[in-house]
Amino acid sequence: MSLAVRAVWAHPSDLEPSRKGVIAFAEKLDRSGINAVFMHLKGGDGRLYWPSPGFPEAVAPECRDFDFAAELLDACRERSIQAHAWLIDFFDGGPAFERHPEWAQRDNEGNTTAGLILRGKPWGVVWQCPARRPGYTDQWLVPIYREFAEQYAYDSVHHDYVRYPGDAAPDRFCFCDACLEEMPRFSGLINDVYADESFFHERYDRPDIESHWEPSPRMLPLNWDRLDRRSKARFLLEGSTFQGGRADLDYFFYAYRIYWIERFCREAAEAVREARPGMKISAAVFKNPVLSGRFIGQDWRRFAPWVDLALPMNYRDHFPGTFEQYLDLLGATIERQKDWAEDFEALIPGVAVNFLYKEEAEAGLDPAMWPHEKLSDTLACIAVTGVPGACVFCAGQIEEFGMWETVRRSWGG
Ligand SMILES: [Zn+2]
Repeated sequence: MSLAVRAVWAHPSDLEPSRKGVIAFAEKLDRSGINAVFMHLKGGDGRLYWPSPGFPEAVAPECRDFDFAAELLDACRERSIQAHAWLIDFFDGGPAFERHPEWAQRDNEGNTTAGLILRGKPWGVVWQCPARRPGYTDQWLVPIYREFAEQYAYDSVHHDYVRYPGDAAPDRFCFCDACLEEMPRFSGLINDVYADESFFHERYDRPDIESHWEPSPRMLPLNWDRLDRRSKARFLLEGSTFQGGRADLDYFFYAYRIYWIERFCREAAEAVREARPGMKISAAVFKNPVLSGRFIGQDWRRFAPWVDLALPMNYRDHFPGTFEQYLDLLGATIERQKDWAEDFEALIPGVAVNFLYKEEAEAGLDPAMWPHEKLSDTLACIAVTGVPGACVFCAGQIEEFGMWETVRRSWGG
């Protein structure tokens, strides 16, 4: 029962930042039957794990004089291990935010995501606006993708956090100055010419007010320019296209977010494919694109022209129930994902090790006593669906919980 792609996500902290450390890590993967690694090379703190000439202020200190990305690629190539560059997209509170605080997402009070309360504590992380132009997307993130593709012949660049924040704020972002300006135009609530003209319908001769949408009159309130951010945000999320009509504007709010996430995927793909024709693009996505479209702007079915490999994060904490129920739900979900991913080159489901052991962790059981069958049963469950690969989160947890041998036995290394 061996999959063609047997992958792990991994972090630079999983190994010593030296040539020797990189080789030892690649040997460990090889011994465990792993033939693809998705290495974290851009963090939520904005750090880059290569000596970037274009963004020197973002380079992690240990990578200023050590080209980690190049060394890892060499060590992987020597062992026929695929190397994928895992980059955190819109969660970035690093040098980009220090230089350009105006690029960050803002809520209806003008605050960033950092002050939101998550599980009783300030979240402390900054998310960048995908829509603003010029802004983080076109001035920072896409150029980083281009630079990486120009410099390194990795098997793919790998999107993560390619979405809006959902953990603390499914419906609160983004109402930055640029989005307040752009969203009404995007939604057709205002015309580029005759912007102040209401253009009421000639005859309201149909049963529903919404039936008279075709002339696309100005649908913004006439006092729009005098409203503050809070009132504008409320209108854009809770208002109606027609005075007296249904509260339907959330449709456009969600469509706007989905559009800009897909638009970024397109811009990144164009930059990467121009820099290095044939280089692939992969993405870590949520398990159900219909739901993630609504809640985090990530309808990944639309990514297919711009992303080659879809890696849904089918982690147990994204499913309800017992471990046995998880395996049933996992198998059923992968069957649905095959349809959603049919225009991608490959569907490579991802699972996380730690969440499999929810019960053991809650009981305070020593990881040395954890039943390894939970991991091997999960990997077997993926293999029988017939997908070409699987990806485990993450190398650090496999190490921490002592499960390299279990991976090797599962994957026939
Ligand atoms: Zn915005």
